[in-house]
Amino acid sequence: MTGYFPEGSPLCAQQDCAEEVARIMEVRAMGPKPLAYVRTYGCQQNVADGEKIKGLLEQMGFGFTDTEEDADLILFNTCAVREHAEDRVFGNVGALKNVKRRHPSVLVAVCGCMMEQEHAAERIRKSFPFVNLVFGTHVIHRLPEMLLETLTGGRRVFVRGEDGDGRRVVEGLPIHRDGSFKAWLSVMYGCDNFCSYCVVPYVRGRERSREPEAVQEEFESLVRAGYRDITLLGQNVNSYGKTLANPVSFAELLRRLDRVEGDYRIRFMTSHPKDATKELLDTMAAGRHIAPHLHLPFQSGNDRVLREMNRRYTRERYLALVDYAKKTVPGLSLTSDVIVGFPGETYEEFRDTVSLVEEVGFTSLFTFIYSPRVGTRAASLPDPVPHEEKVRWFQELTQAQERAAAVRCAAAVGSTERVLVESRNVRNGRLEGRTGGNVIVELDGPDAWIGQFREVRITQARNWILRGVPKEDA
Ligand code: SAH
Ligand code: SF4
Repeated sequence: MTGYFPEGSPLCAQQDCAEEVARIMEVRAMGPKPLAYVRTYGCQQNVADGEKIKGLLEQMGFGFTDTEEDADLILFNTCAVREHAEDRVFGNVGALKNVKRRHPSVLVAVCGCMMEQEHAAERIRKSFPFVNLVFGTHVIHRLPEMLLETLTGGRRVFVRGEDGDGRRVVEGLPIHRDGSFKAWLSVMYGCDNFCSYCVVPYVRGRERSREPEAVQEEFESLVRAGYRDITLLGQNVNSYGKTLANPVSFAELLRRLDRVEGDYRIRFMTSHPKDATKELLDTMAAGRHIAPHLHLPFQSGNDRVLREMNRRYTRERYLALVDYAKKTVPGLSLTSDVIVGFPGETYEEFRDTVSLVEEVGFTSLFTFIYSPRVGTRAASLPDPVPHEEKVRWFQELTQAQERAAAVRCAAAVGSTERVLVESRNVRNGRLEGRTGGNVIVELDGPDAWIGQFREVRITQARNWILRGVPKEDA
């Protein structure tokens, strides 16, 4: 039996289609219940979308499997941010040909950011004729209708957003969460920043925020359900609320959520340095549940490169912000994203990125070699530095970061951290958890602690991983 979409939601229009899909799939399924294999690539926004897709599939009677071979529906939720991610998707879609040969009835769907790009959707159309359904990021809520069309229309279905789809927020989608104590909560969608290297504004549409009441309702239900680590998501959370009829700042949203009673912590990402305010940092400092963790991508430490990237801040402004943040938020842990080898970047300019990393002391860094994206401004700039050279710069930066992270971790020895225990490491048998600053801590203890907070005295640092003893044993 299928679930029901909430009354009054635009999803009601999908109800009949969902029921029809459930009826058809019950007959087509290889096993007693139709199973879906859903694989998500890329960022947390995509993971959050994947959980909505799974929520909708669940409403249509699907269960889930981790093996493609057992699946009645295989769905790839793709990422377009770098070429490497795209290549992996094409490789993995190509490999499905064999699965399809063995199980001709399996449905194959490809969705997500890549499918918002004409050239990528075209390549699927031409090179992978066994893919039955292709849809973009703006039409997820129409999944029942699209699946029904795929099952009954006798042809392949390709759906991209229509004009305006990238400008609205659809509330009320069911969510099938993968975790039971860590959750992702989207507070806004899209991006208007048009950093010159980035494809996101093209594939995710215009920036739009959810109403604070809707965010709060979802947040409260997560806390009630026992979620302990809730990450608020948006491409640029610091501009949250600007497009609402009654604008609300992100700091205000955080304050409202932080007032909800319960045993949990809040994180958020991503913060754009141009919009991060002192108010936000003061709110973090005063919060009861806000983790002292700020993901603040700087991309480059050189002003000319930052200008070319259209980032709209300078190295000096970034460092001043970091300085205020460190002074204001006790025990602050900073993480960041960096691009190495932006078109035209010189070695001297790259060294400014290394020196910024050494100066700030990030807990961890996501480092990417620049990847040209069709349709972006940077893709048309001359890019004379050979790839092998960029790989050397990348390694130089990674080493600088490893040294800085090791120093930071060593300084934590002797302190006591509140750790959310997340899993047991299968290789060394120890429990593994994370501090508020998102640093990994290993400890010994029973499985029953997984999903719980523990006070842990840090006794050792190994590169960027901490080892500790639970307080009661210390
Ligand atoms: N909204 C976030 C980032 C989203 S994309 C922000 O503004 O910080 C995640 C990261 O991917 C970016 O921070 C950037 O470091 C990297 N990235 C984006 N486009 C890229 C490209 N064309 N080549 C290499 N890295 C890229
Ligand atoms: Fe891309 Fe810049 Fe928007 Fe981040 S802020 S998603 S890097 S355009």
